[in-house]
Amino acid sequence: MLSRLSTVARKAAPARFASLAAYEDYGSAVFKGDVADAYLKKHGASAALLDDPTWTEHSSDTVAAAILDWAIDNGADSYCHWFQPMAASGVRHGLTGQVQNKMIEFDRESNKIKFDFKGKNLIRGETDGSSFPNGGLRATHTAGGYLALDTSSPVFLRGDIVHIPSALVSFYGTALDEKTPLLRSNEALNTQGLRLLKCLGYEPQELVANIGLEQEIFLIPRDQYLRRMDLQMTGRTIMGKDAPRGQEMCDHYMAAMSTAQPALEAMQEMQQECWKMGIPLKTRHREVAPGQYEFAPLFGTNTTQVDQNIMVMQVIEEVAAKHGLAALLQEKPFANINGSGKHNNWSIGTTDGVNLLNPDQISKASGNDNAFAVIMSAIISAIDTHGDLMRMSIATPGNDFRLGACEAPPAITSTYLGDDMTNYLQAFKDGKTGAYNPGNKSMEMGTKFIRPIAIPAEDRNRTSPFPYGGARFEYRAVGSAQNTSMVNTVLNTMTAQKFKQFADAIEGGASPEKVAQDALSASWKVIFNGDNYDEANQEMLTKNGLWRIDSAVEANHRMVDPKNVALFAEMGVLEAEECEARENVLHDHYTGTVEMEALCMIDMINQHVLPSCKDAEVGPVSDLESSVATLKAAVAEIHAAETPYAAATLARTLRLETMVDIREFCDAAEGVVPADMWTLPTYKEMLFLDQTDASYVM
Ligand code: ADP
Ligand code: MG
Repeated sequence: MLSRLSTVARKAAPARFASLAAYEDYGSAVFKGDVADAYLKKHGASAALLDDPTWTEHSSDTVAAAILDWAIDNGADSYCHWFQPMAASGVRHGLTGQVQNKMIEFDRESNKIKFDFKGKNLIRGETDGSSFPNGGLRATHTAGGYLALDTSSPVFLRGDIVHIPSALVSFYGTALDEKTPLLRSNEALNTQGLRLLKCLGYEPQELVANIGLEQEIFLIPRDQYLRRMDLQMTGRTIMGKDAPRGQEMCDHYMAAMSTAQPALEAMQEMQQECWKMGIPLKTRHREVAPGQYEFAPLFGTNTTQVDQNIMVMQVIEEVAAKHGLAALLQEKPFANINGSGKHNNWSIGTTDGVNLLNPDQISKASGNDNAFAVIMSAIISAIDTHGDLMRMSIATPGNDFRLGACEAPPAITSTYLGDDMTNYLQAFKDGKTGAYNPGNKSMEMGTKFIRPIAIPAEDRNRTSPFPYGGARFEYRAVGSAQNTSMVNTVLNTMTAQKFKQFADAIEGGASPEKVAQDALSASWKVIFNGDNYDEANQEMLTKNGLWRIDSAVEANHRMVDPKNVALFAEMGVLEAEECEARENVLHDHYTGTVEMEALCMIDMINQHVLPSCKDAEVGPVSDLESSVATLKAAVAEIHAAETPYAAATLARTLRLETMVDIREFCDAAEGVVPADMWTLPTYKEMLFLDQTDASYVM
């Protein structure tokens, strides 16, 4: 299985980019800006056409013709509507659905062929809505699913395929995907935000939510990955004894990217592929755990960023394989070292570039020194009221092992604002209105050779789930494998509702300051600048009545709480039946994940751990044998559960209690079986690329 096959992994010296010429291709595979303009001009239009979403109604043939020319020039002759079924994280390659159609007309009689791609092909597609998770919204005999082009995210090319970002809805218009609710929440945020801003004396044209998604991953030797059934089937190690070295020395974090192992080359190629598609992957570095890495893009509008992040994840998996690596996107691939997150940086801006969360910018643009405080008050109030939904939006199976452990913020929803901002809002709440001028301070290093530098007045708090970080909030508890649509749907929707409540009150005669002060007073408790990892603090926050939901299953169940059903309906984001369906899908996804993990554990014990113990005549053989029986019984019990919620509840116990206990027998066995008789790759073999002979890659 191991081969000294150096041609693939070492085919080229590390790429060097000393000039912008290397970026000539940047964005060439996205149909927007200059690229779109050049092709649309040939058909009597320009890229400006794409700015108004109604082009799909009057100019779809023009755009389709331009896209066809562009595709052919770039060697592509197929297209797909590219959509995002619910609950795809961790199982579906690329997290999306697509059917690849030729842009060609085949003549049955003459056998002549010609290129053919019409407006109707571009703007709409049809599919089987019943074969994707739909939570009961579709059945095989009522299966219609419709795909509609999303004008907010650009068409792009990859390989020979034109990708058309699309939404998936049922025959009745109910959302079957991740994207539709996000788009609806953008509408709500825009509508209610513009109302509130008008009350504050500011009338921009349109509001958008901007996000930047930092993506953490593991890169491990592919040959080892291929010998770990659990990683292949579930994305995480179900068992595995700690290696003698973990992250104790903090030595992996931001260490040099070694040229002696394949991660650097792989990450360079990932970036290059993304750049072509106009994905601005700017930052790369090693993360805290051995084998862990991160990419971060430049932020942008949320639908495009979510689409791009999904494509980034797909590119990461595919390019890693070319370099003899396996990329793990799951949130907790290895026990006792850090798991992976996806920080969701979020802000609200006008389409002409004013950031509502930047105190300076919003004060200047609105001419209202209190606008920033009013906007912040609405968001703080939203966190207080809807912290349960924020928790729901990150309740993925993989995140179970991160939240609450000392690596990701706990399952208690609070926000960190820093001392300066907290003092400012405190004064505002108590009646002292006026602008916030965040200070800078000059830092002396104690040596004349390093001149003083200016730093922000605020420290950073990496224990807070939702810190304000200077002009943006950073939702730090999001999981690495997630499609972050629901995260952003929740952030937008809860904020839109507060914007609405504020606007209603102000239009009804109340002063904006008074409305904001009252909201701040009522929700002051969610501001917490201390250490969220500290148990005494967690107890204190829980006592203060902050949302705390430890169980992912309970978090998902909040989807049908009357408060939340009312919120989504009021904001036009989801109807009651859509909430219910979505909850069922989330439970099924959770249960399905646990079942795969349990079945892996059974096979691995039977096929590896037990035979090794028996051959070596060591280890907890009878405990392992009874564990297999326990696992089988637990899976059978889950199958017999009457509702998706009940099944998920049982699955959670199986996973976080029963399987954790059984893992101890497996890991104890690994500790006593002689190395040459242990048939599974160990943590030591999987996690230390720097110490692995890189020429032994697939
Ligand atoms: P850190 O990990 O130190 O927070 P990174 O540079 O790794 O910083 O990532 C920060 C992310 O936040 C980037 O994707 C960046 O583009 C994004 N970001 C910065 N400002 C904003 C903003 N105003 N709104 C949304 N995202 C932002
Ligand atoms: Mg960050």
